[in-house]
Amino acid sequence: MTKITPQPGIMEIALYVGGASHVEGVTDVVKLSSNENPYGPSPAAVEALRRSAFELHRYPSTDHVGLRAAIAEIHGLDADNIICGVGSDEVLQFIAQSYAGPGDEVIYTEHGFSMYPILAHAVGATPVMVAEKERVVDVDAILAACNDKTRIVFIANPANPTATMIDLDECARLADGLPDGALLVLDGAYAEFVEGYDGGASLVASRDNVIMTRTFSKIYGLGGLRIGWGYAPRAIIDVLNRVRQPFNLSNTQLAAAEAAVRDVAYTEKCRTDNARLRTWLAEALAGHGVPSDESFTNFILARFDSAEEADACDTYLKSQGLIVRKVGGYGLPNCLRITIGDEPACRRVAHAIGQFKGGAR
Ligand code: PMP
Repeated sequence: MTKITPQPGIMEIALYVGGASHVEGVTDVVKLSSNENPYGPSPAAVEALRRSAFELHRYPSTDHVGLRAAIAEIHGLDADNIICGVGSDEVLQFIAQSYAGPGDEVIYTEHGFSMYPILAHAVGATPVMVAEKERVVDVDAILAACNDKTRIVFIANPANPTATMIDLDECARLADGLPDGALLVLDGAYAEFVEGYDGGASLVASRDNVIMTRTFSKIYGLGGLRIGWGYAPRAIIDVLNRVRQPFNLSNTQLAAAEAAVRDVAYTEKCRTDNARLRTWLAEALAGHGVPSDESFTNFILARFDSAEEADACDTYLKSQGLIVRKVGGYGLPNCLRITIGDEPACRRVAHAIGQFKGGAR
């Protein structure tokens, strides 16, 4: 018998658990568990996708020149410093593959996005978890955990699932305090929800050890299509492009993403609607005795009195056709992560939590 053994670290990976999308026996389900845009993508993106169907016999662009130019134009960046991937997950994967391996350490934080330790294990590196301070990334704790084996520090800013963020000065202090040879990855999956925040692009432009990643899955409403991008110093982009498959994005992905990023008015409307409903929902839940930290994202992290209460509320919400996200796996067993839906969805979830707190089970 041949013994087929996976690479070291692979069996340490806990399988990713995604958000559910249906409830047995309940119709009229609202999914508020994956931080999706409740309004869907820009109509311009859907039209571009439809038109791209006439190009399906053609291989797509290998260098994504059109999409990179559009991103660069809209965000005021240099297109040569941009790389595109199958969701920002793939860009994060390029980074782990290129810069970490056996014997190296990859830092992520206590309630950090679950892909970071998965990516570290997948390349045989050691993930190192660093405590947060009251659900906020703690720069001093990260710097204290760094050593000469540290290769990558992953933080999402704003963060998932906590919805909190640190300011750019703190990000700069983190980048500047890292040991030689260590990279700071600023995951900006939710950056567009913060008015006036550049996701850390200014830090990338002024340093050689910072990478920013972004996604079309959240504010652009294209989670089902899988497109993300990264912005990094030219030398890093050159490295990442070597591990990227030449045809990683389809004609359809490229066309839809380009149209989406160019529809600035639609993005702005999604941002303002999200901000308004987020304030409304946070206040409604607080009124029912369910507090949350200030959110900088398109979800709120609702805190319950105990893990049992959070579980019971999750079960009750499901019975009402409302799917939210349990975050015990992120070290937050007394919390539920609730995506900001459209107005009827926000009203429905606030009403159901009010009923639950009032004794309904
Ligand atoms: N980073 C963070 C913090 C996220 O929450 C997500 C999506 N859940 C991603 C990255 C990955 O997003 P995508 O691959 O869809 O771009």
